[in-house]
Amino acid sequence: MRIMRNVVGQAVNLTKEEMEIYDRQIRITGFGIEGQKKLKSKRALVIGIGGLGSIIATYLTVAGVGKIILVDRDKVELTNMNRQILYNIDDVGKAKARVAAEKLRRMNPYVDVEGVVEEINEDNIDDYVKSVDIVLDGLDNFRTRLLVNDACVRYRRPFIHGAVSGFNGQVMDIIPFKGPCLRCVVPKEPQEESKVVPVIGVTSALVGSIEALEAIKLLTGIGEPLVGYFLVINGLHMRFKTFKVIRRPNCPACGKGISK
Ligand SMILES: [Zn+2]
Repeated sequence: MRIMRNVVGQAVNLTKEEMEIYDRQIRITGFGIEGQKKLKSKRALVIGIGGLGSIIATYLTVAGVGKIILVDRDKVELTNMNRQILYNIDDVGKAKARVAAEKLRRMNPYVDVEGVVEEINEDNIDDYVKSVDIVLDGLDNFRTRLLVNDACVRYRRPFIHGAVSGFNGQVMDIIPFKGPCLRCVVPKEPQEESKVVPVIGVTSALVGSIEALEAIKLLTGIGEPLVGYFLVINGLHMRFKTFKVIRRPNCPACGKGISK
């Protein structure tokens, strides 16, 4: 069997306790100990630890991804409580990234969770993206999503996009140069993005869970990723639809590399 190594080249092993923690997923055909070691050898970046990020970070943590970096500049507010399930009412006023990291470490001490209180911008995005194997979208605006998309294209990192509004949601996996990027579908951010997005918590949970599932598939190399398809969820009428999307040759982010 091939020896799995982590980012610094050390062989990845699972302790007896880890084998027990992950027992039920190791039993899945095609996942196994090999899949678990792959997860342990990987690093994920979750940008935005709100409604989507709470769910994404929780499921990546319990699944056993080796390192998880959480980035969010915000503090917990009362209006977060209907969906951001990593926080309790007595966390109001505390930095989300710190509270989330502390809770997740308690949930699974075998995962290295780092919480960073910082705003993602043009100056810091590259360093974050370069340092991980996958990036997950827990954001609430397209301006930052496109910034993250472009960095993921530059450094060829998979990016799982997810967004919610009301009872609706959407998901798409971006593997740069293997399928369309977010900018192929959304070339520019909307002129005016509303700062407050109405949403019911379960919609965030649904979309966040799908994002985490896609990440686990990509990190372990099992299944078929949602590349080249846009999944649209209508929760009120309970319809899931996938639309085929293609790379735009003139995409400002991935167009130039069309032959790559
Ligand atoms: Zn593109």
